[in-house]
Amino acid sequence: MAKEVRKRVLVTGGAGFLGSHLCTRLLREGCDVLCVDNYFTGRRANIFHLLDDPHFETMRHDITFPLYLEIDEIYNLACPASPIHYRFDPVQTTKTSVIGAINMLGLAKRTKAKVLQASTSEVYGDPEVHPQTEDYRGRVNPLGPRACYDEGKRCAETLFFDYRRQHGLRTKVARIFNTYGPRMHPEDGRVVSNFIVQALRCEQLTVFGDGRQTRAFCYVDDLIDGLIRLMASPDEETGPVNLGNPVEVRVGELAEVILGLTGSRSSIVYRPLPADDPVQRCPDISRAREVLGWEPQVQLQDGLRHTIAYFAETLT
Ligand code: NAD
Ligand code: UDP
Ligand code: UDP
Repeated sequence: MAKEVRKRVLVTGGAGFLGSHLCTRLLREGCDVLCVDNYFTGRRANIFHLLDDPHFETMRHDITFPLYLEIDEIYNLACPASPIHYRFDPVQTTKTSVIGAINMLGLAKRTKAKVLQASTSEVYGDPEVHPQTEDYRGRVNPLGPRACYDEGKRCAETLFFDYRRQHGLRTKVARIFNTYGPRMHPEDGRVVSNFIVQALRCEQLTVFGDGRQTRAFCYVDDLIDGLIRLMASPDEETGPVNLGNPVEVRVGELAEVILGLTGSRSSIVYRPLPADDPVQRCPDISRAREVLGWEPQVQLQDGLRHTIAYFAETLT
């Protein structure tokens, strides 16, 4: 009888917010999944529900060190994503993006695996083009407090394109915009988790600046669907491709919506805007629509309801 052949997929950062959802989805699709994580911001609780699955394996490892194994596809998500976490050890953040990318590309080169990089809208910096298309080259301050993340991710993109040109690798780059959902880290300082946690704890909601800056929030299930579609796309489809929800919301409005959905009686307090905080951010997802047939399906209110339910359960 022919042995069942399952795709072997490596997810770096698999115990993180996005990584844990990706592992869950890949297992559901019939893959063998190896989650590699150093647990800097990831948590065992995020993958607890997968530990009994015979097709799931997890390994504590820091991707700034080489990794030798046999694999068919690599999703490279390892990297702290929230400003609080990536600024905690900025040198390690750059190392994770740059040396981590080199190691994952080296691994892909040896095993001939397909490799996908989780890049970010931060490569556009504080943009003067709006909404951002993939050909916009960005406005990043290379010396500022966000630079370890932004420039690290930019360099990782460069490496992905150079390994492709120089070594013929099958590479893909996704530029992820603000994503939210269950399993966000409650202390990571992101606006959605902060506001929900504050509302549920009846603390004041901290709006930075005047709250008129905008972001566009994508629900995690939509985002994971975009990553899977990009990986499955033809080899010529290298990206970069923006993945995010193009519905723009002011931060102040988000606070009001979360107060409404939680029924919280918390008030709003205004705090200074952090350095280099982009005024506006919204993806142009024409390319994702065209080449991946992808666009977000989940409305903000629905996604927020799921996220609030998760925090209400875990914050007890
Ligand atoms: P997260 O912090 O929850 O997950 C990152 C994971 O990587 C964690 O589990 C962490 O422990 C692990 N990690 C960090 N450094 C590592 C290292 N050196 N070796 C091994 N593991 C390491 O963040 P997330 O929101 O799930 O983000 C995942 C990826 O998506 C990141 O690369 C991030 O830059 C990117 N991204 C996320 C968003 C978003 O809105 N969540 C937006 C843009 C880009
Ligand atoms: N690497 C790895 N796993 C592998 C193959 C390579 O972690 O299976 C790492 C290794 O540390 C190497 C890096 O990836 O330095 C880049 O590999 P590449 O083949 O591009 O470079 P070289 O081996 O020539 O330095
Ligand atoms: N923000 C806020 N209050 C908070 C956390 C964040 O007003 O408690 C603002 C922040 O200044 C930014 C926006 O919300 O303008 C999104 O911040 P986040 O850190 O979630 O994402 P990023 O800045 O990386 O898009």
